[in-house]
Amino acid sequence: MPLRYSYEPRTTDLPDLAELADAGALLVQRGLVLASGGNVSLRADAGSMWISSAGAWLDRLGAEGFIKMSLEGQITGRGLPSSEWMLHAHAYAMRPDVGCVLHLHPQMSLLLDALGKQIRFLTQDHMIYVGSYGRTPYYANGSEELATSAAEQLRSHDVVLMGNHGIVAVGDDVEGALRVALNFEEAARLRDAVVQIRAMLEGATEDETIERLRSQARKGSTFASGRKRQGARFKK
Ligand SMILES: [Zn+2]
Repeated sequence: MPLRYSYEPRTTDLPDLAELADAGALLVQRGLVLASGGNVSLRADAGSMWISSAGAWLDRLGAEGFIKMSLEGQITGRGLPSSEWMLHAHAYAMRPDVGCVLHLHPQMSLLLDALGKQIRFLTQDHMIYVGSYGRTPYYANGSEELATSAAEQLRSHDVVLMGNHGIVAVGDDVEGALRVALNFEEAARLRDAVVQIRAMLEGATEDETIERLRSQARKGSTFASGRKRQGARFKK
């Protein structure tokens, strides 16, 4: 009996680098990485990957911004891969299920970790898309030690925080890895809000805390009652 639908096998020779380039731009826009920090990759097949080139800015990636190379380090064609290529190669080797790896420098996650605070997951999305994270101490950028220790953590987590450096987030595809990275940094921001609110609450009643939050906001130019704000707009 003929199959009702035929399924094309996933194309591994021509990965969707345009989607990865878009993801790079989004990650810069969302503040998860700055300038030429960070690097992104897509699995090409079981033994090779496409990775952003050395010194590439993630919001300026074109199709030519990627280098194809084997997980052992053999480069196809011209150009130099990111100096962090081993981090990506070890991630793909450790996790055959992974199709995309993002290495980023998200500020709030790194700041909380440097303060010795654990990032905790409060919302449904943070639990579903992240749920847990691994951690490594600081190792030199581009080192094999960093790559192997992060890969070891990827055995049981989809995101690893590398102390005083950045994160590595993995997923089935670009969208999956993006979800992990964005939710992880958002969880860190929410955790920071909890820390700040707790500090504010200390020794104050709830009403006093709300009053303090309001007085903070009044210092800014945007806080006003709806009517006042409308009035200000009409005056212009
Ligand atoms: Zn880095």
